[in-house]
Amino acid sequence: MNDIIIGIDLGTTNSEVAVVDGGQTRIIEVDGAKLLPSVVGLADDGALLVGQTARNQYVLYPERTVRSIKRRMGEDTKVAMGPQSYTPQEISALILKRLKQAAEKDLGQAVTKAVITVPAYFSDAQRQATRDAGELAGLEVVRIINEPTAAALAYEVDHAQGKTILVYDLGGGTFDCSVVRIAKDVTEVLASHGNNQLGGDDFDARIVDHLITHLKSQGHDPSDNRTAMARLMRAAETAKITLSDAPFALIQEEYLLEHAGAPVHLSLELAREDYEEMIAPYIAETLEAVHIAVKGAGLTVAGLDEVLLVGGATRTPLVQSRLEEELRMQPRSEVDPDLCVATGAAIQGAVIAGAQVASVLVDVTPYTFGTSAIAELNGEMYPYTYIPLIRKNTPIPVTKSEAFETSYDGQRKIIVNVYQGEDPDALNNTEIGSFNIDGLSDVPAGNILITTFSLDVNGILHVSSREKRTGLEARTTIDNATTRFASDELAAARERLSALIDGYEPDAGAVTDADAAGDADAGVGERREIVAARALVEKAERLLDGANAEDRDDLVDGIEAVKDALARDHGEALDKAVAQLADLIYYLES
Ligand code: AMP
Repeated sequence: MNDIIIGIDLGTTNSEVAVVDGGQTRIIEVDGAKLLPSVVGLADDGALLVGQTARNQYVLYPERTVRSIKRRMGEDTKVAMGPQSYTPQEISALILKRLKQAAEKDLGQAVTKAVITVPAYFSDAQRQATRDAGELAGLEVVRIINEPTAAALAYEVDHAQGKTILVYDLGGGTFDCSVVRIAKDVTEVLASHGNNQLGGDDFDARIVDHLITHLKSQGHDPSDNRTAMARLMRAAETAKITLSDAPFALIQEEYLLEHAGAPVHLSLELAREDYEEMIAPYIAETLEAVHIAVKGAGLTVAGLDEVLLVGGATRTPLVQSRLEEELRMQPRSEVDPDLCVATGAAIQGAVIAGAQVASVLVDVTPYTFGTSAIAELNGEMYPYTYIPLIRKNTPIPVTKSEAFETSYDGQRKIIVNVYQGEDPDALNNTEIGSFNIDGLSDVPAGNILITTFSLDVNGILHVSSREKRTGLEARTTIDNATTRFASDELAAARERLSALIDGYEPDAGAVTDADAAGDADAGVGERREIVAARALVEKAERLLDGANAEDRDDLVDGIEAVKDALARDHGEALDKAVAQLADLIYYLES
């Protein structure tokens, strides 16, 4: 029987599961719907509810219902659901388990492997938490891939041409934008930026604020009434969705509150114009991120061939119009924005399973990783100067090493701190791990240590430090600095979950690495600048046909300059030639 690897988009608001079946990608329905609300709850009798039923009861029983758990992934925390508390991984595992069961029912066979997507902006901790959730659900997570990469796969599934695209993904709780280069059989994320705390839920929250202000103006304050607040949230989302298609939405909630024994009803009309004013700052923030990502890819907006929309909130008209204004190009939205990420994950799963290999992914790291050392910072020697080893936007997998020296005679021990961030002062970055290398040789200062950072395709970081003269080594794996499950915790969590899910049997058989072999295909990509320059040349060449004689000459000169710089020098000359050609294209297209 075929080794099926399902694709899962584990979303903040909704989750989806897809599969490539007989060469065709399709979404698997769960309870008759393509979107499974990412909501988990306990019914009156303690039965577990996942999806729409849980979402429905949120209004009534917010205390035993959990939503938007993706926002908490990677945090060392527990959320209450009824009498007990659960980690974000456990709650996510319940959603994954539901998707797994739906896939098994649909396919008529056991499903044990999945590709799960995460925002490109997710940290190591968040990726590892996602992996843990998969394990708890009885799934071997063969690959964690970035959502924009998955979306690009879905959108490009029928295209063979090389293209540079922007994937703009605005979901319920996360925003991600990535510049992706798709050549014949390689999909590479050139740069990505975003905010994992921004999404359509924030739009809902602004409407809720508006409703509260309105109620307060009438002498009622629903803020402390959780049931009323949950109803307001639901009403706000409905209004938001209405406003995607209509200029006004009527928000009506009967018996929302009680005041002095009398019922309080809510009835308020919201105009799209007013709503757009509320959400404009969020959209402006996303556009800023778009420009940062484009710049990070070494491009200007003129270098983009296409803009792909992903995530339910991109149905908001203001999102589309502002993007079009800013990028001077109509964004593509022909693939269902809610489903394209799961679709892409399924395609990736099929590639790993060896079914019709159409594309090999090359991802980049969205963060810089490094360590600290005594070095000059702002003209002074400072013990926590940040020494980046793997820079943001480097294609992964990647391994980088750097030499360090002991700073005083007889130094027997070094603490290696590992950070994620961009600030030259390491203390302003996020410390994601640390380890000691102890028992160094009793020698004068200047004893050399080689520190190595290896980041794999799942965003898991291996760090080691080796005394050069003896080979003495210490290492750590930063799967998740804060919330990684120890194996006993994992077992306890499994037990708690099996008690919760009626008839749930933890899957027998250990997780294997067999399918990690598929990773071997993902070679290290070309340098970002070179890829971007080539993309620009291709774009300029495509413009030659439609250009008048004068513009054509300018384009030919520009193309030659970039090609020349590519052949001779990848430094300043290339930057200059690329900038000039990008400006020319921008001028010609505007
Ligand atoms: P996702 O996380 O991709 O499933 O996106 C879910 C988000 O998209 C939620 O905030 C939804 O309320 C929002 N959404 C879904 N449909 C629409 C719509 N037609 N207009 C605006 N937002 C929508």
